[in-house]
Amino acid sequence: MSNYPKSPLMGQMMSQPLLISSIIQHADRYFGDNEIVSRRVEGDIHRYTYRDCHTRSRKMANALQKFGVKMGDRVGTLAWNGYRHLELYYAISGSGAVLHTINPRLHPEQIAYIVNHAEDQYLFFDLTFIPLVEAFAAHCKTVKGFILMADRDRMPAETKIPNLQCYEDLIEANSADYEWPVFDENSASSLCYTSGTTGNPKGALYSHRSTLLHSYASTMPDALNVSSRDAVLPVVPMFHVNAWGLPYSVPLTGAKMVFPGPSLDGKSVYELFEQEKVTFSAGVPTVWLGLLTYVAQNNLTFSTFKRTVIGGSACPPAMMKTFRHQYGVEVVHAWGMTEMSPLGTACTLQSHHQSLPEDEKQAVLEKQGHAIFGVDMKIVDDQGKELSWDGETYGNLLVKGPWIIERYFKGEGGEVLQDGWFPTGDVATISPDGYMQITDRSKDVIKSGGEWIGSIDLENIAMAHPAVQQAACIGVFHPKWDERPLLVVVKKPGADVTKEELIKYYDGKIAKWWTPDDVTFVDALPIGATGKVLKNKIREQFKEYKLPTA
Ligand code: AMP
Repeated sequence: MSNYPKSPLMGQMMSQPLLISSIIQHADRYFGDNEIVSRRVEGDIHRYTYRDCHTRSRKMANALQKFGVKMGDRVGTLAWNGYRHLELYYAISGSGAVLHTINPRLHPEQIAYIVNHAEDQYLFFDLTFIPLVEAFAAHCKTVKGFILMADRDRMPAETKIPNLQCYEDLIEANSADYEWPVFDENSASSLCYTSGTTGNPKGALYSHRSTLLHSYASTMPDALNVSSRDAVLPVVPMFHVNAWGLPYSVPLTGAKMVFPGPSLDGKSVYELFEQEKVTFSAGVPTVWLGLLTYVAQNNLTFSTFKRTVIGGSACPPAMMKTFRHQYGVEVVHAWGMTEMSPLGTACTLQSHHQSLPEDEKQAVLEKQGHAIFGVDMKIVDDQGKELSWDGETYGNLLVKGPWIIERYFKGEGGEVLQDGWFPTGDVATISPDGYMQITDRSKDVIKSGGEWIGSIDLENIAMAHPAVQQAACIGVFHPKWDERPLLVVVKKPGADVTKEELIKYYDGKIAKWWTPDDVTFVDALPIGATGKVLKNKIREQFKEYKLPTA
């Protein structure tokens, strides 16, 4: 945090810190009767209002105070998207402690590492995770108690988890008489660890200020465009980058919230969409694959679903077209990362695009989009020289803004900024009108004869083929060119296509020398803890692969 020069004449407006507790206070006061609906781990549907959520959050804040949790202390959660998790978002951060959301899809050893690194004082978890917590609880050095987020009758009779308490007992035993404390808006509010595909995960420590600014900016019409008239179902998990900020931005607008709990299969999500009249959602492409397959197989349509944000990895154009043309659902392609709270860009059309032919509009929408206000970006070469915004030149993408990290928690990884900019590790182009397109993660770029081939383009083409369910493209060793592209494909159930047909499918769609040298078919692609295809696993699997051209 820098010390900027002060003007001799300072503004005379109220200096009120931007605090997370103000969001739930606002939701209670102005949208108190609006609903929060959750599919619980137990399977049933739970309903209550923002007013109830605020009351229970205050009770939980009192419980934390009795536990002796102080400002800045970290409190962990291992939980699905649900109302109790939302209460903790406000109880923990609102009381000045730090909400540490943990990804339950990680290996127990990795979870223990993260809990110890964060020095979590208490750990809250959902019913589903009893066996997981039993597997690592003994290795947690700082955790004083574990809290099961369930009713009393669900408490296990016997367990290896030490100091286990019941969430609902704490709610019952505590009063809602609690004043949210007022403190410096730069205080830490929540902590999320990066996926850590290489090395140990590192923590991004958000502040109240960064979270509030991100929440304001993300609701804007050219970003997520959420309003009090929406019913929002966050498919993105609350255990990874705060579900893209939706647990804050949705109550901020007063929109109805619909939580899917652990049931993310196509059928369960679809039923909730229809029953609760969901208008807006957000998720990674892999989740939408399941939903779209279910809807297609059962000949269904969406009656209220209007808009979805897709990000986390590149949205295949074929998926976007299916949503738009077949189901009338607008897709907003967005890009960001854990280190960015996470939103950086969103893709929406401007007035000057309206008169474009349909295919040109579609080409714009397939990009990751323009920076949302608050974020600035640039592309640079390996020497750090800024590259032009011509839509063709690609370079390392750097960003800055008030909700982008300055350093990792506890200084892990040392100095991360380059002249005040955060290097994202992504490679991108930027068009003259400021639309950014990711060509690849720098680690995934295929380096062929000294030139770069972006794997995302190659995957998008393959995924537009009617017989292809999923595709990943990696560089494999080639004696002449160093690397050449190998396409790894999962076919749609019941569909068939040959390797020759797929290679031919690239004709005319891309520079000839970008065409994959070979295609291999697999039953499934490895998917990581945040729903992304694990390219490093695929590279490992095919590291000895012999290309026919080699
Ligand atoms: P994470 O911190 O786990 O959310 O991962 C962030 C990374 O996901 C980014 O640096 C990108 O490589 C990738 N990513 C996120 N959104 C997109 C997108 N819309 N298109 C392509 N890659 C994306």
